[in-house]
Amino acid sequence: MLKIDNLKVNIDEKEILKDFNLEINDGEVHVIMGPNGTGKSTLSRVIMRDEKYTVEKGEIKFYGEDIINLSTDEVARKGIFMAMQLPPEIDGVSNTDFLRTALDSRNEKVSLYKFIKKVEKSSNELNMREDMIHRNINKGFSGGEKKKNEILQMKILEPKLIILDEIDSGLDVDSLKIVGENVSSYLNEHKDSSVLMITHYPRLLEYIKPDYVHIMVDGKIVKTGDYNLAVEIENDGYEKYKQSNLENSGAGILSEK
Ligand code: ADP
Ligand code: MG
Repeated sequence: MLKIDNLKVNIDEKEILKDFNLEINDGEVHVIMGPNGTGKSTLSRVIMRDEKYTVEKGEIKFYGEDIINLSTDEVARKGIFMAMQLPPEIDGVSNTDFLRTALDSRNEKVSLYKFIKKVEKSSNELNMREDMIHRNINKGFSGGEKKKNEILQMKILEPKLIILDEIDSGLDVDSLKIVGENVSSYLNEHKDSSVLMITHYPRLLEYIKPDYVHIMVDGKIVKTGDYNLAVEIENDGYEKYKQSNLENSGAGILSEK
């Protein structure tokens, strides 16, 4: 469904993504791990077509269609959803208004009654307090409540590709379990949907089973493995991969005194 080829992305002349390649097929769960500042959030924002990021070269195709020239809104309507690392608070728009408008923009005519029932059921499954769905988006929500609210949006909008950028940060163990189980059951009910998950810890992978775990260092994927690679990183950190990346680029030799 998603194919990224030789992607190069700059921010203020600085190269953030370098010859980045990734292919995600229907029904697959891909995990990206990597040190801070390595370009993981940049990657997810570029897929969502955040206009702050300039694509210098390369391709991003979604079901064969080039999406680089689309707007964020258009990408979302194609069925790509991103749960943000730091979800913003939005004044003056309630959660339910936002979700209903988003569904309307896709010409999905759902009766108000069915819509409300679905939102209530979904927020219950996430163990969210009842009033939250009627409050302004994320307004006064705790960090963990904001993350759950992102998953609520996912459950209602029913995307084909779900990008989770550090959905586990700020979640207590109980909330982490609830979020993990909700994403997992979503995937069981939507067999063709895929996940691109950015995380620092293997914990969430106990609930959302990965097909591939990628290590990203300095703007590109340097190693791909399975769940065991996430456990290896948990134990040993990224040092080995940072080193080999330096050696491959020749910078290791230059930095030797
Ligand atoms: P990660 O999510 O892997 O921690 P990011 O993608 O957030 O990393 O950031 C990669 C690099 O790009 C960092 O050096 C960061 O400071 C820089 N960066 C990201 N977004 C912006 C921005 N909007 N303006 C300036 N620099 C940015
Ligand atoms: Mg990030």
